[in-house]
Amino acid sequence: MREYFRNIYLTLKTILIGMRITLRYCFADSVTVQYPDMAPVLQPRFRGFHYYEIEKCIACDMCAKACPVDCIYIEKTGPRKLDKETGVAVGGAVTRYAIDYSKCMFCALCTDPCPTDCIHMGNIHDMSGYDRQSMIVEFTELAKQGLQTPTPLWMRKDRAPEWAQARKREWIERAQPKREAMLKALTEQKPPAPAKKAESAAAATE
Ligand code: SF4
Ligand code: SF4
Repeated sequence: MREYFRNIYLTLKTILIGMRITLRYCFADSVTVQYPDMAPVLQPRFRGFHYYEIEKCIACDMCAKACPVDCIYIEKTGPRKLDKETGVAVGGAVTRYAIDYSKCMFCALCTDPCPTDCIHMGNIHDMSGYDRQSMIVEFTELAKQGLQTPTPLWMRKDRAPEWAQARKREWIERAQPKREAMLKALTEQKPPAPAKKAESAAAATE
C-alpha cells in the first residue's frame, strides 16, 4: 500500500517538474530566426565555407596534405614563391585550387599549416546545389570573377535580403584591391631578380 502511494507521489512530482520547465519556456522570449530574411548570428570563430587569397598561395600542397578527407585539389604549372616585399607569390601559375564541399567537414585543419596564411574559414554557412558536382568549388574560377569565396545560389538573386546584399558587397570590396594580383596568380609570373644579381649585372654592362 505504501509503495502504491509512493508511486503516485513520484508520478505527480515528475509531471510537475516537467511542467515547470515547459512553462518557463512558454513565457521566454522567442529565439526563432526568420532565416534567410534575417541574418543568422555567427560567432567570431565560426568555420564556414573558406575564403582563399590566391595571390598569396604558393601551391605548396600543405593544406591538401593536412586535410583528413582529401577534399582539396591543387594544380600548378611550376614552383611559386612569396615575394616578401609585395606579399604576393610569383612563379608558376595556380591552375586549380578546388575544395569538394560534399566531403569537407569544416575542421579547419587546412588553415593552420598554410605558410602564407592564405586559406581561411569564411562566414557563409550554407550552400545549396542540384547535384554533387556543384558542391566542388573551383576557387581559381572565382578568382577570375574577383571573388575569394563562393556565393550561395539564393544569394545571387536580385531580391536577396539586404543583409545578404551587404555581405556580398563586403566580399567584393575585400577582394577588389587585390584583383590584379589575383588574375596574375592564374598566369606564370617571373620571380623578381635578387637585388645583388641585378646590381652586378648592371655593373658588368657599364
Ligand atoms: S593555401 Fe596555403 S597551404 Fe594551401 S597550397 Fe596555398 S600556400 Fe600552400
Ligand atoms: S576544413 Fe577540414 S575537411 Fe575541409 S578542406 Fe579543410 S582540412 Fe579538409
